[in-house]
Amino acid sequence: MANIKFEKAATLKAKPAKDAELGFGRIFTDYMFLMDYDKGQGWHDARIVPYGPLSVDPAAMVLHYGQEVFEGLKAYKGENGEVMLFRPDENMKRLNRSNARMCIPQFDEQLVLEGLKELVRVEKDWIPDAPGTSLYIRPFIIAMDPFLGVHPSSKYLFCIILCPVASYYKEGLSPVKIYVETKYVRAVRGGTGEAKTGANYAVSLKAQDEAEQQQYSQVLWLDGVERKYIEEVGAMNIMFKIDGTVVTPSLEGTILPGITRKTCIQLLKEWGMPVEERKISIDELYAAYEAGKLEEAFGTGTAAVISPVGELKWGDKVMTINNGEIGPVAQKLYDTITGIQSGKVKDTHGWIFTL
Ligand SMILES: *Cc1c(COP(=O)(O)O)cnc(C)c1O
Repeated sequence: MANIKFEKAATLKAKPAKDAELGFGRIFTDYMFLMDYDKGQGWHDARIVPYGPLSVDPAAMVLHYGQEVFEGLKAYKGENGEVMLFRPDENMKRLNRSNARMCIPQFDEQLVLEGLKELVRVEKDWIPDAPGTSLYIRPFIIAMDPFLGVHPSSKYLFCIILCPVASYYKEGLSPVKIYVETKYVRAVRGGTGEAKTGANYAVSLKAQDEAEQQQYSQVLWLDGVERKYIEEVGAMNIMFKIDGTVVTPSLEGTILPGITRKTCIQLLKEWGMPVEERKISIDELYAAYEAGKLEEAFGTGTAAVISPVGELKWGDKVMTINNGEIGPVAQKLYDTITGIQSGKVKDTHGWIFTL
């Protein structure tokens, strides 16, 4: 890479054994991508260096006021060993949109995408090749100015780290139980709900913790004003199949615009299935359930791709969806998207970037 420096590591870590439990997000590779921003100078010194602790001033603004943004995407190994990324250009665009909301300066998407690809190339031997496994890519930007004033930082660090991850599903797609959150809210109109920023996760922990205590794996958020309209689940967007139509909440500033969501909507339309992006209230959903018209529910997001919902708990009401089993639309979306990502299904959309 002409403008991306490379610093070689003195030693390399042992890679996890082929069939070892990789889990999610605990094992990191040998290298990371870094780039600095200083006011007046712009983004500079893009480089790939050995993975290791960062030097962060205790007064760095990210530690006090949470000015940060992040992304999540995956690299997959194809049948012939080729390395593929799924719609990484969309992650770059979204990261800059999150930056705009969080007062972080825009970066050159082309340059960072090149840096990301170079990092994955350097680390390609870390990409697991068992079905469903992948290399998770976590780009993030943090405010580095050592200053306790509340103001956008004048220094930032852009970092990309990688971790090999196991298949989300060990024995087929198993439906999850979701708790409809009526006490806490995640985002309000005018807030930061549509930015991918750590702050949105910090405010979600309490609800998530209480739901887990009741044996629910995630919460379904309702809107912060009327506490009525469905928004999204933890780190996934949500879709329902009601009487033959797929309905998903429209993007109105409080919901994260998922790339998996966008992919699903496009595929469903191509398959001739009716799709509606609109407001949908929890009362409407329950009425559809009572009328026997709630046919499927599933989350969409990079980590699990498609996550069928088998049960929704709303106050004292429990909705069991499709007998707690995955439905045909969720299964078809899952098979198609993971098929494209692994190279088994032809990519006719230009979604795959091969390294
Ligand atoms: C990242 C994320 C999603 C899913 O987005 P994808 O691009 O599909 O991975 C959904 N909701 C929230 C809150 C997220 O942070």
